[in-house]
Amino acid sequence: MRQLFDYRLPASAALPSVGARVRVPFGQRQLIGFVLATNVTPEVAEKQLKDVIDVLDTEPLWPVSMWDLLQWAARYYHHPIGDVLSHAAPGLVRQGQLPSYATTTRYQLTERGREQELSALNRAPQQQRFMAALQRGAMHAAGVRALDIPSSTLKSLLDKGWVSAEQLELKPSAWQCEGAHGALILNEEQATAVGAMLGPIERREAKVWLLDGVTGSGKTEVYLQAMETVLLRGEQVVVLVPEIGLTPQTVARFEQRFHVPIVSLHSGLTDSERLQSWLQARDGGAAIIIGTRSAIFTPCKKIGLMILDEEHDNSFKQQDGFRYNARDLAVKRAYQEGFGLILGSATPSLESLANAKAGRYQHLLLSNRAGGAKLAHHAVIDLKQQRLHQGLSDQLLTTMAKHLQAGNQVLLFLNRRGYASALLCHECGWTSECERCQANMTLHQQEHMLQCHHCGSQRRVPRQCGDCGSTQIISQGLGTEQLEEAIAKHFPGYQALRIDRDSTRKKGQLEQALQDAANGKFSILIGTQMLAKGHHFPHVTLVSLLDVDGALYSSDFRAPERLAQLYLQVAGRAGREEKPGTVVLQTHHPDHPLIQELVNNGYRHFAEAALEERQQAMLPPYAAMALLRAEATSRDDAEAVLKVMASYLNQHPDVTVIGPMSAPLGRRAGRYRYQLLLHAEQRAPLHSWLKQLLPTLEKLPETRKARWSLDIDPQDFA
Ligand code: ADP
Ligand code: ZN
Ligand code: ZN
Repeated sequence: MRQLFDYRLPASAALPSVGARVRVPFGQRQLIGFVLATNVTPEVAEKQLKDVIDVLDTEPLWPVSMWDLLQWAARYYHHPIGDVLSHAAPGLVRQGQLPSYATTTRYQLTERGREQELSALNRAPQQQRFMAALQRGAMHAAGVRALDIPSSTLKSLLDKGWVSAEQLELKPSAWQCEGAHGALILNEEQATAVGAMLGPIERREAKVWLLDGVTGSGKTEVYLQAMETVLLRGEQVVVLVPEIGLTPQTVARFEQRFHVPIVSLHSGLTDSERLQSWLQARDGGAAIIIGTRSAIFTPCKKIGLMILDEEHDNSFKQQDGFRYNARDLAVKRAYQEGFGLILGSATPSLESLANAKAGRYQHLLLSNRAGGAKLAHHAVIDLKQQRLHQGLSDQLLTTMAKHLQAGNQVLLFLNRRGYASALLCHECGWTSECERCQANMTLHQQEHMLQCHHCGSQRRVPRQCGDCGSTQIISQGLGTEQLEEAIAKHFPGYQALRIDRDSTRKKGQLEQALQDAANGKFSILIGTQMLAKGHHFPHVTLVSLLDVDGALYSSDFRAPERLAQLYLQVAGRAGREEKPGTVVLQTHHPDHPLIQELVNNGYRHFAEAALEERQQAMLPPYAAMALLRAEATSRDDAEAVLKVMASYLNQHPDVTVIGPMSAPLGRRAGRYRYQLLLHAEQRAPLHSWLKQLLPTLEKLPETRKARWSLDIDPQDFA
């Protein structure tokens, strides 16, 4: 709810600080609320005010700087502050738990315990064993567990008063960084980059650097050396990585370099683990905080530097609920708290490049691969009139054989999991459409199921056509599962490893697979975009993108940028060590200007031209956008709410309203989806117009029949 609620504070309660939590009655329930202001004139009549039940915190949960950032984010994204705060708070805090450190029990001998003769305990060997251990010193619960002392033993010793137990908070201890272990000697470009960062870091200036370095150019080494100065003076470093980038290996790389406490924050943590990491960051116990998108909201006692790796990656944008962009918030936070921010990428977003061009970020280039590796050779295979063997051309098969025979690894990229993207009736043209979505269901052969990748529905594979009853059902659109099967047939002597969402569902599977891939245990790697991101596979010399043609004719204005980023990130997996790499793109459109550009000129050249096009077309980053989405079980309801909203929004001279129109995925999980696009040359008029109109828009009667949402700076138009 966008609304705030007023409560009366009972005379007995102490005045809570702004940013503290309270327990309040809400309808029939009790809820946890955040205090936004005190001593205000209530918006409802005195007698309607309810009393606060309980004040939970004596102090604000967040430091002032973080509180300000959250307030700013709520305003910028026009999102209810309550939802912003509950998004930023760890789950347990949101549920009303006190943010406290985990505790442990410490056992030690009492005075009387010390007086006992151990030999008198010969008939109670467990007690004897534990007493002997305690004679050497006090022990924590974990140590006692490791000794395998039965709880009955513990209990009788406590009862006899020979052993005492006390509860201890596992508070972080102070840390000190003694410098880096095993730092590399920087090459010239790296040294220039680190050199440019050190001055502002030493002066504690707020500054943003765009570290634009080709894949394998040693960006991580630059991060590590910039971090050292900060850690040496006892300040913290926050490192943000894309969803898939945060593996134990990433964390290990930081641990090996600096022997300091590191916490990680990601979706795989339990609520209590997350709370502990959050506290360690807030109270200064953690020196390095590594996390995915939402870690941007982690308060830090003394932050000295933030690094956002793979800054172009889409996973920094939250795609539902509170639709923030962690990269943009990082820039805001850097200026509010006064620290340096490194945005690193081999394929920077056009937004960041435009900011660098405008002088808002300092642009630092790494144009060569570190450690002697050469840039890869690029080639295109024209698929027109070629025979394809389950998506593989003869030419590709020959090239693969050459690389494999030389003892190298080959990586095949195909961004479609499953066996086939649809089933098709050969006689009547029926396709395996999902009943709840405007999309085909994917065939998963191993599970013998059809699965919708949009809503998760599953269905048994039909033997016959749903319309005409024909048994001539064929599959269409190659997926990774089928590719794996094809590879086994063509290269029976080589081991293949498939890495996609299906093959890495269980905890630890992805880490294991990435490690196996890096160690060269498998000759052929097959994968979706999971394989494309930042991973280092030293033995891969050939990379092939099998089918990216779909992206060439997309209606999304960001599709070329995305394809260029994907292409170069995938290509970047080739030839990362001494052996030279080759990148082969299979396409039906070898003359397409984007393909020519990427293969011949590379990303920087592409980005220059793309920025110019965006400027001419008045598209972001040279214009501001917002997207209103609506969905409802009835098509009319979904469209109606946006139609009415459009009639209001239309009345501003500087804001263009486009739509409503059906979303590209017109129906999902049984709901029709519509969109309304708002465009303005400047951000300010668009935002103030939204601010002015939203209170009216959200009270429109049409909103009761449809779910709607607002997305500021939308990244995804699906
Ligand atoms: P990026 O993140 O830019 O893709 P990495 O940081 O993973 O690149 O570095 C690629 C490889 O180059 C790594 O194996 C790394 O150890 C090595 N490397 C980086 N900097 C240097 C250097 N100055 N001297 C030698 N090797 C380096
Ligand atoms: Zn049919
Ligand atoms: Zn579906």
